[in-house]
Amino acid sequence: MNIILFGAPGAGKGTQANFLINEFGLIQISTGDMLRDSVKRKTKLGKQVENIMANGELVPDDIIFLLINERLKNKDIKNGFIFDGFPRNLKQAQKLDEIMNDMSMHLDFVFHIDVDEKILTSRIENRAKQEKVIRKDDTSAVLIERLKVYNRDTKPVLDHYFNQNILNVIDGMGTIDEVSSNISRLINKDLKVD
Ligand code: ADP
Repeated sequence: MNIILFGAPGAGKGTQANFLINEFGLIQISTGDMLRDSVKRKTKLGKQVENIMANGELVPDDIIFLLINERLKNKDIKNGFIFDGFPRNLKQAQKLDEIMNDMSMHLDFVFHIDVDEKILTSRIENRAKQEKVIRKDDTSAVLIERLKVYNRDTKPVLDHYFNQNILNVIDGMGTIDEVSSNISRLINKDLKVD
């Protein structure tokens, strides 16, 4: 089973990814984590993307495709995976269709964790206050930019998956457990039909 978790910054994708890992034995492919790792290790790629990320902009598609292609070579993806933070624009979504096709794989579910923008802002501000090591892109100024980028570049991707009939909108404003059980209910319903 292959899944895309979709949602604005602060919508809770990471939290729900952890749930899906434990519940269904999937692995997580987070482009954000991969990029942060490169920045931390001060690799050539990390140096290229550091400022872009700190400003809340999208990293160039070619860099993302390089990371994704490399990651999908690992056999551990065979039992199913969760994309978290990818695809983030239409070009990435189209590329992903090609990659999946070439690898004879398919996407089963896209879950859009839908959260009101005002709630997103306050969640991120709280997260920034609580964290000892604050993520450089978790300040309110950068968050506003990240939301803008999300609305402009990422949201249109939803139509792409709506047209493919695999889009599920999940109310992301309940408790963590409520959101998780809504997701697993949809998965289990589909598994039973198969
Ligand atoms: P979020 O908290 O919004 O889920 P992520 O951890 O997914 O953030 O991503 C952090 C930053 O990494 C983004 O703001 C962007 O600069 C970069 N990034 C992550 N994934 C992608 C992607 N698929 N395409 C372009 N940039 C990306």
